[in-house]
Amino acid sequence: MTITADYWDDFPEWCSRCQQEKPASEFAYEARRGLQPWCRKCKTEYTRERRRLLREGQEGHDFPPIGSGISQVEWQEISEPERQQIRHVYGIAD
Ligand SMILES: [Zn+2]
Repeated sequence: MTITADYWDDFPEWCSRCQQEKPASEFAYEARRGLQPWCRKCKTEYTRERRRLLREGQEGHDFPPIGSGISQVEWQEISEPERQQIRHVYGIAD
């Protein structure tokens, strides 16, 4: 069976960042990991914000790693040692 964008639209996905249900075609799909937990719009915003922080020399340490499924709100409540572990799991070494 061939999987098309229309096929995915029949299965709405929950974006863990903007907390909205969106058609699956709004999500990036990676063959290795499947549908991403954030919609394309959130990923774009995340990338833009991260770039801005990097440019200002603040580094993006206050953002949950992409793919972790952790929302910004949840991330703020995680202690720094735990954050470091999570970053390590997602390949963001300090
Ligand atoms: Zn979103």
